[in-house]
Amino acid sequence: MADLDIPTARQLIDGAWTAAADGGELPVLDPATRETIQSVARARAVDVDHAVAAARRAAPGWAATSPSERGAILRRWADLIGAHVEQLAEHESRDVGKPRSGGRLNMYITQGIVDYFAGAADKLTGVTLPTRTPDYFGYTRPEPYGVCAVIIPWNVPAVLTVANVAPALAAGNTVVLKPSEIAPLSPFALAELGRRAGLPPGVLNVVTGLGPEAGVALTGHPDIDHISFVGSTVTGRAVMRAAAQHLVPVKLELGGKSPNVVFADADLDVAIPAIIASITENAGQNCYAGSRLLVEESIRAQVVERVAAGMAAIRTGPWDQDLDMGPLVSQAQYERVRGFLAEAPSAGARLVTGGEPATAAFDDGWYVAPTVFDQVDSDMRLAREEVFGPVLAVQGFRGVDEAVALMNGTDFGLLACIWTSDVSRALRVAGQARAGQVAVNQFHDAGVIGFPFNMQKESGFSRGGGYAALREYTQEKAVAVRL
Ligand code: NAD
Repeated sequence: MADLDIPTARQLIDGAWTAAADGGELPVLDPATRETIQSVARARAVDVDHAVAAARRAAPGWAATSPSERGAILRRWADLIGAHVEQLAEHESRDVGKPRSGGRLNMYITQGIVDYFAGAADKLTGVTLPTRTPDYFGYTRPEPYGVCAVIIPWNVPAVLTVANVAPALAAGNTVVLKPSEIAPLSPFALAELGRRAGLPPGVLNVVTGLGPEAGVALTGHPDIDHISFVGSTVTGRAVMRAAAQHLVPVKLELGGKSPNVVFADADLDVAIPAIIASITENAGQNCYAGSRLLVEESIRAQVVERVAAGMAAIRTGPWDQDLDMGPLVSQAQYERVRGFLAEAPSAGARLVTGGEPATAAFDDGWYVAPTVFDQVDSDMRLAREEVFGPVLAVQGFRGVDEAVALMNGTDFGLLACIWTSDVSRALRVAGQARAGQVAVNQFHDAGVIGFPFNMQKESGFSRGGGYAALREYTQEKAVAVRL
């Protein structure tokens, strides 16, 4: 494969691009045109068997490779990603519908993650343990699990691929990755670059198939040692049940309903563009999307007006026009989001901008206009459920206690963003947030290297991101010695 084109109707098993055993294919669609742009293999249980067997054969050799050698291969992988940013970004942008610049940014993040774990591979250490007398010696050693299954969704496929695959490989595991059937192209292209960087056959296998087929086969497979799942909370429950069959450890990164909590003393010139970006980036299809705007009553009217004006000015179009926002990823997603748009007004929410009908310069794709609903009530579906579209739900609060109650009044616990110029209040509210991640006066994790991607409540449980992810992909053995 001279460039990074993905071979038709293939998947990557044991270092080779192979067809599904039964020759099955799945179409990959361009969300801006709804046309087929590619076909990939439709993996069934037998293909998953082949991939797991390849990963199992490769596991002892890869685990025996020195950590610095694994790190060197990962560094070559990061360099190749850096050299192919445009092609990778094109795959991801076409596949998901995000603007070219969004795809490009994702690839720089992707490269950075692989680079981080390249450097971390030989930093994984155990500890020596205190003993009762000098006649004993005790220590722990981190060991790879063996074969890790990684299942990811379609929204940020490249980043989610490496956020899991890179620490798993750095720690000495082999991997069977199942990307979403909706957006498999950038994971495939990344795996191809991994192969070129020197990952031996079987160390990273990629099967594409439907969740109920390939996904179920992988999570229920008796020869898997660890499962990482990123996706919806509903599927996360099914994955956990599947993992229970063979008592396989599972790491879950699930949905979110993240709030931007804006106090009256916030710097609105900084907060408002960030709030808008938090719900329109990737057309609102991010797990950490700022889908709830909780704003102090005294500034509510002006904040809603400014946010709505900014949302209305968002330019929407296909990926190659590189505007602000693309379409939603699929017909199913389109119908789901439009369901919320239709229901919210009758439930009592006030439409401020956007809503039905979708207003887009291009009407061939699954476009939804950036939408703001004010006067949302906590028991409305719009306030409780993940929409996964550019739809913002606004609620007002009076005082810190009410802000905290609203912030935590969700089943999810992924991210909370706090906007205030009062440092003590920011830290107190951060301490009270029932969320795995908190951002103060910014949206998400900008500026922090290796920010742990932690989750609470129904957003899952994981210690992804940064050095903790390396630990997540190792099991610790304790050794006691009588001297
Ligand atoms: P999804 O749960 O429908 O699918 C995710 C993956 O699971 C896909 O690869 C799918 O094929 C597979 N799958 C589906 N059913 C399965 C089953 N029964 N067994 C095993 N695998 C199965 O999610 P989606 O619609 O692709 O993605 C959107 C969701 O992902 C949102 O809820 C979003 O919040 C979440 N997400 C979470 C994070 C995070 O880090 N917390 C990051 C990105 C996306």
